[in-house]
Amino acid sequence: MREEYNKIPITKPSITKLEIDYVNDAISHGWGEKCYEYIKLFEKSFAEHIGCKNALATSSCTGAIHLALMALGVKSGDEVIVPEITWIATVEPILHIGAKPIFVDVLPDTWCINSSKIENAITLKTKAIIAVHVYGNVCEMDEILNIAKKHKLKVLEDAAEGIGSKYKNKRVGSIGDAGVFSFHGTKTIATGEGGILVSNDRSLIEKAAILNDHGRDPKINKTFWMENYGYKYKISNLQAAMGCAQMERVNELIDKKREIFKWYENGFKDWIDQGLVKLNHTQNFAVNGYWMPTIIFDKSLNVDREVLFDYMKKRNVDVRPFFYPLSSLPIFDNCEENIIAYDIFNRGINLPSFHDITTKEVQFVIDLIKSFFE
Ligand SMILES: *Cc1c(COP(=O)(O)O)cnc(C)c1O
Repeated sequence: MREEYNKIPITKPSITKLEIDYVNDAISHGWGEKCYEYIKLFEKSFAEHIGCKNALATSSCTGAIHLALMALGVKSGDEVIVPEITWIATVEPILHIGAKPIFVDVLPDTWCINSSKIENAITLKTKAIIAVHVYGNVCEMDEILNIAKKHKLKVLEDAAEGIGSKYKNKRVGSIGDAGVFSFHGTKTIATGEGGILVSNDRSLIEKAAILNDHGRDPKINKTFWMENYGYKYKISNLQAAMGCAQMERVNELIDKKREIFKWYENGFKDWIDQGLVKLNHTQNFAVNGYWMPTIIFDKSLNVDREVLFDYMKKRNVDVRPFFYPLSSLPIFDNCEENIIAYDIFNRGINLPSFHDITTKEVQFVIDLIKSFFE
């Protein structure tokens, strides 16, 4: 606890009296007949915010991805197209099903999947594409949807990092066949652990809900009887209570992320103009929720990430590495032909952006990074 006073963490949730009051109410009164009340309210308010008709809250986004892929019909032996640059949680549920992730390179500016490389990766086994709005940056959804339509593939949007982001006036996560979000303590909206699956397709959410309840179908009115087996990725009413409070503040929380990004962008303006660094890129048709301000250093700066991490850590600033290309992990076959991902990852870091960070702290981080290169 004490170290929080001098350490600048990468992210943490914004907690006010509202979150505490709602969780207190849930723990005091949210039992028995009321044990799903906050969950239902949370699902409703989140679906409304995103602009989707249906939502199923889960214990994690990883769980929501697993349920979504199964409900979309992905089976053992199928292939699923994913970007090289994403959190491992995008890919693990594919492995859990016994399907195979196919890694496609990312774009040099948004670091999202390069849609022009998707068709090359499609085979007879391909079932779905997962579009990941990485660090809040926005995928080229029209291009992805067109390819999916042409090849009869499903599109799942991993919008875990995309709260506040929009593609052509639609919130990300509401555009594909289904979308998922994370409420892990590091994300823009937090419930500690938690996730949600959203879709305009009611039958898809119904399928996922049955899978999420050990395979129990509510239409078969027979207690403890199931025709199929399923899974259990349920969120608790306590977590959902925190989520309800966060949803009442969602615009405030998104605005704050945008403000923090602007501070970094202004602070690095001279370096950006000189081509020494690149920050999150937003196309003119998109809006960025800036979950995580991220910086890529130009090759000319010759950055050694590990030395930089050490330098920042010694000064109590928590920075994180840009994701490794997933195919470089020992569990996968290396796809070095994904040249953009392999070229940029080693020069990229994530910057602290918790909601309560001050301009002074951001300036300290900027000055520290600049001084590292002097
Ligand atoms: C955080 C995250 C997840 C997983 O979220 P959990 O709630 O921790 O399971 C999935 N995909 C991406 C892109 C993420 O950033």
